Amino acid sequence: MAGRRLSIAVAACAGLVVPWLGLAPLTSPADASPAGNGGCSAGARTLSPPGSRLYPETGNGGYTSLHTLVHLVYNATTNRFLPGNRVLLTDRATQCLTSFSLDFERRSANTSAGPDMAVSSVTVNGHPARFGFVQPTYPGDPNGQDDPDPAAHEASQTNPVGGPDNNPLPPACSPELPNTDAVANSLDGTQCPANKLVITPRAPIRDGSVFTVTVRYTGRPGVHNDGDGTTEGWFRAPDGGFVTTEPVASEDWMPLNDYPTAKPTYDFSDTVTEGRTVIANGVLVSVQHHPASREFPGGSVTWNWHSAAPIASYLVEDSVGNYSLTARTVGGITFYQVQDTAIKAAQQEKNLAIMNMQPDITQFESQFNGPYPFTSGGIIIGTPDASFDEEMQTMIAFAGGTIDTDTLYHENMHQWWGDNVSEGGYHMTFFKEGLATLAEFLYHARLAENAVGGPSSAKGRAAFQASLVRQFNQIYGSTGDFWTAAPSNPAPFGLFSDSATYNRPGAAYIALRQILGPGNFTRALRQIQRTYGGASISEAQLEAVFHRWLPVHSGACQERLGEFFTQWSDTAYPPGGGANRPVITGPGLAGPGFYSAPGVCA
Ligand SMILES: [Zn+2]
Repeated sequence: MAGRRLSIAVAACAGLVVPWLGLAPLTSPADASPAGNGGCSAGARTLSPPGSRLYPETGNGGYTSLHTLVHLVYNATTNRFLPGNRVLLTDRATQCLTSFSLDFERRSANTSAGPDMAVSSVTVNGHPARFGFVQPTYPGDPNGQDDPDPAAHEASQTNPVGGPDNNPLPPACSPELPNTDAVANSLDGTQCPANKLVITPRAPIRDGSVFTVTVRYTGRPGVHNDGDGTTEGWFRAPDGGFVTTEPVASEDWMPLNDYPTAKPTYDFSDTVTEGRTVIANGVLVSVQHHPASREFPGGSVTWNWHSAAPIASYLVEDSVGNYSLTARTVGGITFYQVQDTAIKAAQQEKNLAIMNMQPDITQFESQFNGPYPFTSGGIIIGTPDASFDEEMQTMIAFAGGTIDTDTLYHENMHQWWGDNVSEGGYHMTFFKEGLATLAEFLYHARLAENAVGGPSSAKGRAAFQASLVRQFNQIYGSTGDFWTAAPSNPAPFGLFSDSATYNRPGAAYIALRQILGPGNFTRALRQIQRTYGGASISEAQLEAVFHRWLPVHSGACQERLGEFFTQWSDTAYPPGGGANRPVITGPGLAGPGFYSAPGVCA
């Protein structure tokens, strides 16, 4: 960062010329190919749209991520990846590629808990490839992604960067705040770290061809410092690691295409210290024990897990340590139950009672979402004091040694929302957090229902409905700063804001349920699962499904529903609440409602 020079670290392949070092500034945003490349060019080094201020450095274009084989070789006692440690990525080119990139934060300013890793080699289709680390460039830079201007590679929470030098350009990355006490703009205008791993194969990769990339690396995995000062990634456990990574820290333990719409399927084949357990996504396939070796004097063990379902970048689970693992099958779904053995026995018993509720919660949530999308589910409870619990796909991660029922309803709901149907970008975090928050509202409604006769009694059903209305009205009455951030336009500092990302979108779904009617609301959710399952969804696609299931097809009502989404998802209001909040609600709820008369939007 010092000197504000474009820093390019060239690793390992001494003697090879790194081609982008000598490039003159390019004039085309697409890195127009020099003559002789036959229409081939470098893949985009971001998937974020131009103007993005939310992790604009993440994701990589020019190819689609199909499958990833993770092959950790990990000493749990020293917390180190050993020689032989590697990932094997299978991708399909979507253009002719002269080079392409991955995201990998091998070192960070956080020298205690951050990563400290090194790449030893990269091969493409089995052949050695040149590689190097470069800084990200702001998305859409007309001077190309090798822009020599240092201002094109600066961190900020805002667009433009501003900062001490009044940089008029958009940010190239989100700042990594050192702690949660840091103020939002504390690192504005600083240089982004060189976390883009650019790989140049010995010959261009043809458009449409499937190719494999093997990256070998060693060292200590770690955590990422986020734009809000929280950390996530590979946390040190008593004897191993505990992985919880939203939004971006998978790149702090493995190189990958780090964007939620990149969803390869996964296999894990991790060789670790004998006696330790590996917990990953999908289903456990096999466990093989090996005799003592130089690297593992006490022997080693390989755990093989398989996920046939694609997994978004921030939902990859791969914890290693002293974990107890049990499994049981309910309704055709295998549920894994995992706890760190360092958790006190009495606490483990309390945790187990809540973990045992997962099949019932899954069945309850299926009533709204449709069938559970995976063949397995599970929960891992680790000891590190991570910043949050997380909906790792089929293996929900609870931190701090405890689990609670509210949060289990929330994280389990994510298996449909965020996991099976992923957000089209980080700015859509509100879409899946709102639905997971709705699951907490539904849980409290279920408690009210069960208290007076259950779902088969009219009294019970009335209590369920009344509870949802009560919870909406309480949120709708919020004052102060509650309505001041637009859920679909968060700064990194406020990405996980209780008000904008969780409660406001959660309340909006209760209102949608009132507007569409409970039956149509459920039909809309199920249609989204059928149409976008295994992939991701944009805000426009999400809204289009709810428009389709609006029971009144008049132009006026469709227009009002459009205005409803604008108010609830896209509008930042002045502080105070009252007049400064959405003015379209739903039938039976506080506020002006939606219809002027039943079925009419005058
Ligand atoms: Zn959540």
